[in-house]
Amino acid sequence: MHPSALINLPKSLPYPMSYERPNIQNMTGYSSGEQPRQADVVKLNTNENPYPATSAVERALRAVRIDDLRRYPQPYANEFRKEAAQYHQLAVANILATNGGDELIRLAITTFVDPGQSIAIGEPSYSLYPVLAAIQNCPVVKIDLQDDWQMGPDYADALNASGAKLAFIVNPHAPSGLLTPVATLRHIAQRFTGVLVIDEAYVDFVDPTLGYDAVSLVKEFDNVLILRTMSKGYSLAGLRFAYGIASEKLVAPMLYKTRDSYNTDFISQALATAALGDRAEAAHSWRKVREERARVEQALGELGVSCSPSQSNFLLAQLPDTDSRYESAEMLARECYQRLKDDGILVRYFDMPRLRDKLRITIGTAQENSQLLRQLTSYLRPS
Ligand SMILES: *Cc1c(COP(=O)(O)O)cnc(C)c1O
Repeated sequence: MHPSALINLPKSLPYPMSYERPNIQNMTGYSSGEQPRQADVVKLNTNENPYPATSAVERALRAVRIDDLRRYPQPYANEFRKEAAQYHQLAVANILATNGGDELIRLAITTFVDPGQSIAIGEPSYSLYPVLAAIQNCPVVKIDLQDDWQMGPDYADALNASGAKLAFIVNPHAPSGLLTPVATLRHIAQRFTGVLVIDEAYVDFVDPTLGYDAVSLVKEFDNVLILRTMSKGYSLAGLRFAYGIASEKLVAPMLYKTRDSYNTDFISQALATAALGDRAEAAHSWRKVREERARVEQALGELGVSCSPSQSNFLLAQLPDTDSRYESAEMLARECYQRLKDDGILVRYFDMPRLRDKLRITIGTAQENSQLLRQLTSYLRPS
């Protein structure tokens, strides 16, 4: 708690004086999804992979010796960069390793946008973008997505008209899961005059038969920066490791100037390299998540709960407004969120325009999903 809260002083008083920059004083920090410590909570609220990391990661963890930690790590995470370059068939110079995707977002902002210059995001999208923009004292231009969560045909024009130096597109989209095709991204990258970050935090869960591959855009456009993370697809949210894929023109200033000198540590480099080298095993979990996603969507539909088409590891579930016990779908969504929580199942509720009548539900193990569906059935179809 801030000390001023204890003595109940209004913020405007000069005492206690703030040492913060005015924009820091005026901003609100990021609010993470709940991270309960009880092991028996069914956690479907922060889009973690329900399956463990692969055996190669476990072997790499066991191979870490205490003496490995005595020296500084390789500053650029070069072993990881080599592995990633090989995977994406690009050069090592096109890869930047970061301490989670969140660090890459912060680096993109501090490297490419002056304080006072604007940053554009689709609305709704990842709620961390405005927080990191506020730290750099950058205004955020929110461009409303269409009712089906697509970017409209004039999206690139809207980006340019906003004067933004940097724009974030999350694909598959969060919180809806909608996948935008590469052709649309290409159209935007071609026209937008700033740096375009394509945040692919959830790309591993995309159905491979769709043939989605936006990495090719990096070869076509020097203003495209793709974000990948080990947190979701590789079950390593606790490790903090992600990477950027971009032209050398974008990678070099972040790699050699704005990055923390040792931004990724020895253990995370070793484990992330092992994880990326062992994609076939991780891909089993992606397939299971896709299968469960289809099953949960179908079962929710039978309860009158409709979901946006998702290529991610979560569903944005729209509660029906036909339940006579509730005045509105919003009230029903809140009620379901709370009752699930009381029954030990956490999902995400966003108290935001267009999302108040919905729940974002992470796909868990088959058993967790069945538990969720049983509870929802008992609330929505009481016998
Ligand atoms: C999870 C996530 C990230 C990155 O998360 P890290 O754990 O910091 O790698 C980035 N963008 C979106 C939309 C996410 O959901």
